[in-house]
Amino acid sequence: MATKRDYYDILGVSKGASADEIKKAFRRAAIEHHPDRGGDEAKFKEVNEAYEVLKDEAKRKRYDQFGHAGVGGNGGGSPFDGFGGYGGQGQNVNFDFGDLGLGDIFSSFFGGGQQTGAGRRAQRGRDVETRVEITFEQAVFGTEAELNLNIEDTCEHCKGTTVEPGHQLQTCDQCGGSGQVVNVTRTIFGNIQQASICPKCNGRGKVPEKACSVCHGKGTRVKSQRIMLKIPAGIDDGATIRLREHGEAIANGPKGDLYVNIRVKPHKKFTREGDLILSDEHIDMVEAALGTEIEVETVDGPVRMKVPAGTQSGSDFKLSGHGVPRLKGETRGAHIVTIIVETPKKLTKRQQELLQAFRAESTPKRKFWH
Ligand SMILES: [Zn+2]
Ligand SMILES: [Zn+2]
Repeated sequence: MATKRDYYDILGVSKGASADEIKKAFRRAAIEHHPDRGGDEAKFKEVNEAYEVLKDEAKRKRYDQFGHAGVGGNGGGSPFDGFGGYGGQGQNVNFDFGDLGLGDIFSSFFGGGQQTGAGRRAQRGRDVETRVEITFEQAVFGTEAELNLNIEDTCEHCKGTTVEPGHQLQTCDQCGGSGQVVNVTRTIFGNIQQASICPKCNGRGKVPEKACSVCHGKGTRVKSQRIMLKIPAGIDDGATIRLREHGEAIANGPKGDLYVNIRVKPHKKFTREGDLILSDEHIDMVEAALGTEIEVETVDGPVRMKVPAGTQSGSDFKLSGHGVPRLKGETRGAHIVTIIVETPKKLTKRQQELLQAFRAESTPKRKFWH
């Protein structure tokens, strides 16, 4: 909790900033840090998180009063929802795309997060989303990608227990070990008792005798992590790979999951439809009329293909087994070649004469004008 930056600092505005100033500051910062414009994704999320709170009058008020603890619970009522560390907030950043006009780019990217309901204690770290861009061929044949993340990892000193090594846990003095505190509210109907999670021990009933001296009792630390990700052959643009327990760490619980969104760069020559690879090949009208054999560029290299006599422009031919491998099974889709017949734009005198002679031999379909 202590490592979370102040929301006003993140947006670079003063505590007394107007709603309009906050909105302007958000726009500037979001554009600056937008990952699609080469910005830092972690910063981008931070900016969005800050704006999510400061644009909302009620949340901003709670934040001013209670700090991060007042707004961590996804809008929940308890000012203590946010306790339990950064990973315990169960809060999914809601991007305000209306303000940026970038909704289409990100709607699929950040859509997959899991939320912990407001007021419930999160028992695992937060899910993290990232993305990887690969080439057309890498998507077809599979590849390995290196991910570099800068996220909360388990504190190596206390192994995520929050306790300084050599020390014990002791019963929480705030809740007496029950993990709950009871608030009594007086109303005209009598006293209403409401139990909530003990903010001191986060519901565990125990607190460290001495907090870990490295993470100060948080159980986690921000660390840069390198993960090698195996991307299977046949993966398509927009697919998401989940790596279980590779997300953010949390004290006394498993890590969240890591979601990796795969972006496939467009290819100069090939397009893709499911397990089919599509491309065009150009031939001239004589080849189309007489038939020919051409070399077709495929992801496996050049492949020879017969074009029969009388081929019309726009005809499709299938090269079996040169398409995309199916994710399940050993088989591959086909490569579909569309033949484009080119009509010559310039003819030599001799070619003109030959074509006129050719025409004289043909059955006229329409009246000639010269
Ligand atoms: Zn520690
Ligand atoms: Zn307690």
